[in-house]
Amino acid sequence: MARRETPAAGPGSRALVVDVIRSATTISRVELAELTGLTQPSISNIVRDLIADGVIHETGSADSVRGKPRKLLAIQPAHRFGIGFQLGPESVTCVAIDLTGGVVGREVVPLDRTDLPARLAARFDDFTAGLDLPRDRIEGLAIVAPEAPEWAEERAGLAGQLRIPVLFENDAAAAALGEFWSRRVSREQSFGCVYLSTGIGAGLVFGGSLFRGASFDAGELGHVSIAYDGRSCPCGNAGCVERYASMTATVDAARAEPALAARLRLDGTVSSAYDTIARAAVSGDAAAYAVIDRAAGHLAVAVTSMVNLLDLGRLVLTGPGVAVAGSIYARRLRTHLARTAHARHRHEIVVELSARPRDAASIGGAALVVQASIAPGHTLGVS
Ligand SMILES: [Zn+2]
Repeated sequence: MARRETPAAGPGSRALVVDVIRSATTISRVELAELTGLTQPSISNIVRDLIADGVIHETGSADSVRGKPRKLLAIQPAHRFGIGFQLGPESVTCVAIDLTGGVVGREVVPLDRTDLPARLAARFDDFTAGLDLPRDRIEGLAIVAPEAPEWAEERAGLAGQLRIPVLFENDAAAAALGEFWSRRVSREQSFGCVYLSTGIGAGLVFGGSLFRGASFDAGELGHVSIAYDGRSCPCGNAGCVERYASMTATVDAARAEPALAARLRLDGTVSSAYDTIARAAVSGDAAAYAVIDRAAGHLAVAVTSMVNLLDLGRLVLTGPGVAVAGSIYARRLRTHLARTAHARHRHEIVVELSARPRDAASIGGAALVVQASIAPGHTLGVS
């Protein structure tokens, strides 16, 4: 492997070291220096500070080739916690994670949007009290929603009320970071996450950090057009994949088939109608399967463009849209990439399904909070 440039030791190095320890589970100082490209003295200093701060600890030792045992380092899980609230159309998913990314609490409650900041503050108190998490070990709260960056006022109000840092994040970006953490993806991998919900988004993690673009608007996969003269989209473009493959578009497609719509009784909210179609599709209903598979095909075309543009090596499908029928999307995507991805002869493009597709965004929000607290000044996620 080519030796990378030695990064300067700073808050970014501290975050880098913590990330590498987390993805390795346990690791020696020598291996840390090799994997981060930092010098041995820098590693010694950073490790000493992280142990003093209680972020990591020494955990036994491993035999080295030369016989001298090496002390192994690991994350101290119960030291700090991050809270993530994901706002859905009808409910809020609340998650608490520790420093390793492990989920220590989760609940989903109905969401009433009147006087939202006060309600979220009350929700935070209830949730953390229920888990008996000491307030001084809670590093902050992340609110995750499709259009989160526009919430400047609510953020200030909430942070003042709770007296902890509050950050807002877009659901696809948060989910990407959550998957990056919980899968222990190495920093070398170009990692992408496709978030399927009532809209479609993508999150991209390069070198361990979320890629944001010029105005925090990167990852708008839903508005990648797959047809010049296709369906018109509220964004102003035509043929946006969101108009063919989002949960909303899939429910519309199923409702347009009278026999299918009557058989499955597709009234009610988009989320519940979509789950009904997805359940039918994985239980042998051929018409429901065809509707989902067609949506998956449209999604595969757009995702392949993203993979080609960025030369991604690993992709995760997540979000409520893959909670039930994720295997149909994964199969379509793998087939399409294996046949058409530009880099298919150079490397494999791994497509995986999220283990917690309904929680990925809230877990990722909580991960952002913890990450930011480990390396103050180096707002992780902002490269
Ligand atoms: Zn659009």
